[in-house]
Amino acid sequence: MLPTDQQSNTTLRGKFTLTCPHCGQVTLRNLVECPFCGFRLDILDKVFGAIPVHRGWVNDCLSTFSKRDLRRLSSYLQQMHERFPQSTFVIFTTKTALDKPLLTQAFWLFNRAKICAPTSRLGRNFSVLLLLLPSKMEAAITVGYGLEALFSREELAQILECGREDFVRQEFGLGCLKILRCLNDKMRQASLRVSKKAL
Ligand SMILES: [Zn+2]
Repeated sequence: MLPTDQQSNTTLRGKFTLTCPHCGQVTLRNLVECPFCGFRLDILDKVFGAIPVHRGWVNDCLSTFSKRDLRRLSSYLQQMHERFPQSTFVIFTTKTALDKPLLTQAFWLFNRAKICAPTSRLGRNFSVLLLLLPSKMEAAITVGYGLEALFSREELAQILECGREDFVRQEFGLGCLKILRCLNDKMRQASLRVSKKAL
C-alpha cells in the first residue's frame, strides 16, 4: 500500500518539488511556465491537438495490441490498482510524437486526458501513464507528483528499459507487461520504505 494522503503529506513534506517535463529542471510551480526553458502546458495543446478520449486501462488507439495482449494488460493493470488503490494506471498508444520528446507528449496527455480524479492533484496524485510510440519502438512514463517524490527520473528510465528488448522485436504487449511488472515491484519497495519511515 502507498501511504495515505495524510501520511504522504507528513512523510514527503520538505522534499516536494515539481519537475519540468521538457528540461528536467525542478521548481516548476503550478505548470504556468518553466523559468528555465519556457515550457508551458497550454502551448502543447496547439502542438498535439485533440485530446484522446481516456477509456479504461488500455487506450490502444492504433490497435497495436492483440486481443490476448489487451486481456493480459488490462488484467494486470486491474491487479495493480487493487494493490495500490490510490493509483490509476493507464496505457495509451500514439502515432507520432511530432518534434517533441515522447516524454513531453506523455506529460501533456497525463494532464489533459483526466487520468486522475480532480481530488488527487499534486502530491496526492499517484497515477501512472505509459505512452507507447510503436513506430519508433519507444515508450515514455509519466507519474503523478506523489510518485515523483518516490522515484527519480533515472529509476523511471530503468523501468522503461525492461520493455526495450521486446519492443525491438515488435512484441509491444509483452514489453509493456514487463515494464508494469517492474513498476509494480518498485512501487512495492517504495511503499515499504515509506511505511518504515512513518513508523
Ligand atoms: Zn523547463
